Amino acid sequence: MRLKTAVAFALSIFALAAHAEKIALTGGTLIRPGAEIETIEPNMNSTLVVDGDRIAAIGPKVLPPHTRVIDCKGKFILPGYIDTHIHFFQSGDLFTRPDVVDLTKVRSYAEEVAWIKHNLPDTFARYLRSGITSVVDVGGPFWNFEVRKIANAAAKAPRVAVAGPLISSVSRPQLDLGDPPIVKIDTPDQAREFVRKLAAQNPDLVKIWYIVDKDHSIDSFRPIVRATVEESHAHNIRVAVHATELETARAAVQEGADVLVHSVIDKEIDDSFVKLLTDHHIILCPTLVVFERYGRTFANKLNLTPEEKAWGNSEVIATWDVRKIPQDQLPDRIKTALAKPDDALDRIKKVHEIALKNLKTLEDAGVTIAAGTDAGNIGTIHGPALFREFQLMREAGLTPMQILQCATANAAKLFGGETGAHIGKIENGYFADLVILNSNPLDDIAYASDIESVMKNGVIYAASALVEAKKTEPR
Ligand SMILES: [Zn+2]
Repeated sequence: MRLKTAVAFALSIFALAAHAEKIALTGGTLIRPGAEIETIEPNMNSTLVVDGDRIAAIGPKVLPPHTRVIDCKGKFILPGYIDTHIHFFQSGDLFTRPDVVDLTKVRSYAEEVAWIKHNLPDTFARYLRSGITSVVDVGGPFWNFEVRKIANAAAKAPRVAVAGPLISSVSRPQLDLGDPPIVKIDTPDQAREFVRKLAAQNPDLVKIWYIVDKDHSIDSFRPIVRATVEESHAHNIRVAVHATELETARAAVQEGADVLVHSVIDKEIDDSFVKLLTDHHIILCPTLVVFERYGRTFANKLNLTPEEKAWGNSEVIATWDVRKIPQDQLPDRIKTALAKPDDALDRIKKVHEIALKNLKTLEDAGVTIAAGTDAGNIGTIHGPALFREFQLMREAGLTPMQILQCATANAAKLFGGETGAHIGKIENGYFADLVILNSNPLDDIAYASDIESVMKNGVIYAASALVEAKKTEPR
């Protein structure tokens, strides 16, 4: 009987929360990365009042009438996390990038894309479960604009900023089912025309895929980068550039890029590069986790965190067991990785050594770093991958408060626009997007995933109720 009452009570709380109301979170510690006063210890002044979808007051001694009080004694309240680099058009499973490993005979790409579209609400919920109340989709098909619309209309979904198809130096025909995520652009005029087509969809960012190899030099694509930036800026749209070599990243910034996605991984950055980034107020998103996950998946050496195992989509995770793929269907890249897993791990170690060192250099120099994972790529799961990213940022030498700032206040700058100006902080007038933790992430960033509840748009959810533990057979 007592249990029944408790369940009914809990249900009524969350039913009540389904519509706008005044809520006071009392007795918790407020953690406000990047704010003038970064922590407000539990006392009368740490009360946080939410009115409808916004934060209405911090620290009032007298609560407004008709306020529902939620006791947060012993809890830690932060702005909702923001993952600034994800791709909804990719599931994270083994079949999601046929241009990298062709397994279309095992599972067709059309089937894969259909699964992704069908599972979109589930993917959204896994972000909220992970305390992530906003994400930036840094490139995908024109369908991305539909995703943004669907997310905006859904309660149990993060806020979504999007770029459309990537303006690329290379083509990826394997991903073209009529609405390709990557479009090869050959001339500055083509670039301008494509940006105008994108601008009609009101993108939050334009994305350039600045891939450099023996057939594609930095200089040959440079005029296209310039034209893309000029046309985008003329439409008041910021440009994010994928550039993983020092000289490519330097060229991108010199041509006017606003955001660098990924880290420089070919060499240690130099002083002039750091100065270039600070002078241009560049935001950089390191995406450390994605650098290990292709290699680890193919070598059957995945290092999933408990959060990923618990809150990641189990169907996606089941595909990563590459030993289940019939031998005659295994692409060479996976065969090689399976035969020499230590080589794969060595390569990852070398990339991380440089990327982590570069991150510390940029953080110390005051460059705005925004946390992001590149979730959706093979091995990088939507939602909880962010906690592996936090681990790697800690390994780089960032403090818990610095990491949290990268995932909140700084990330909001990358999100951009009107929404970006009202997320990532606990301030009056900001959206009531919050994470409530059971333990203090400033003691150890690992506690950032000790999530009790999540508030999105003023509606509070028990974290454990957001994602059903579902048992499905691997497909
Ligand atoms: Zn990406």
